[in-house]
Amino acid sequence: MTVIRGATTIAEDSPEEIRAAVRELLEQIESRNFLKREEVVSIVFSSTSDIHSFYPAKAAREAGFEGCSLFSAQEPDIEGGLRLCIRVMLFVEKNDAPHHVYLRGARVLRKDVAQKFNVAIDGPAGSGKSTIARLLARDYHILYLDTGAMYRACALAALRAGIDVADEAQVCVLMRDIPLNVVYRDGEQHTMLDGEDVSGQIRTPEVSMAASTVSRHMSVRMKMVEKQREIAGKMSCVLDGRDIGTFVLPDADFKFFLTASAEVRAKRRADEMTAKGYQVDFEKLKQEIAARDEQDSTREFAPLKRADDAVLIDTSDMTIEEVLRTIKSKMQEKI
Ligand code: C5P
Repeated sequence: MTVIRGATTIAEDSPEEIRAAVRELLEQIESRNFLKREEVVSIVFSSTSDIHSFYPAKAAREAGFEGCSLFSAQEPDIEGGLRLCIRVMLFVEKNDAPHHVYLRGARVLRKDVAQKFNVAIDGPAGSGKSTIARLLARDYHILYLDTGAMYRACALAALRAGIDVADEAQVCVLMRDIPLNVVYRDGEQHTMLDGEDVSGQIRTPEVSMAASTVSRHMSVRMKMVEKQREIAGKMSCVLDGRDIGTFVLPDADFKFFLTASAEVRAKRRADEMTAKGYQVDFEKLKQEIAARDEQDSTREFAPLKRADDAVLIDTSDMTIEEVLRTIKSKMQEKI
């Protein structure tokens, strides 16, 4: 079952206006959601208290919605609310992500369901950013952009080219036309280098450390940040990284900074790598994470840093579900 929302306005309170507006709204919802009439289980309307001349539900019946249950109600008179507005909620027998439809200047009450918005999640390695960002994107049906994967791909390209990742001049030449791309298949980000899917190869400890080194260079950051801003400018997404809230999207609608104790973060990374079949030396991994944190936090340009307006969450003693719930409730508070 999926719930689709929509709203529209009318110019004056007349049955003709209501009929035309309701028909247009429902037809738009149908076409944007590839809906079949028989998939509509129920339609609930609410209209502002300045609408008296006709039931929107009756208009829906007249527009051919015959097999579903219909209901209309009047909204309370809220000061500052939109005038002559009809809102709708369709319950449909479908499991696809809904496309909500707002017409004729109708405003959206919940930013998270209809307007474009970006969520910035920053924090050190192993703080839970990517797990949370992925789940959040899934729940809100928006894109998850793993910015770390982009720096990792730059590092892999440098390693493959035999370049010293610390040498800015050499890396800068490589960056000029690096064939790096991110594509999405079944909602999962795939990182492509010259057409090759390197999503798995960029996860090795060697690439992690090299990514931290190449990402210090201004030429690398500017190139990646440009790509990240381009994607975030076009669609709603959750971005995770080190500098999203401070530099990439300082105006992001929602900002979070996740952290956890060094021990917990190393343990999470170790579990992740063991699950993927790697042999893990825990102490070495802990040192590697500490070295990476140090390098990421002390670099000159766009270091790992909490934005002043980011909500800080220490995930050390929290389950994934708890972190997710906390983030969602913070987002709701802000809407
Ligand atoms: O998040 P992940 O561990 O995949 O990131 C790999 C490296 O990429 C980090 O250690 C960091 O140096 C760099 N990075 C960055 N800015 C971002 C994301 C990652 O500098 N926004």
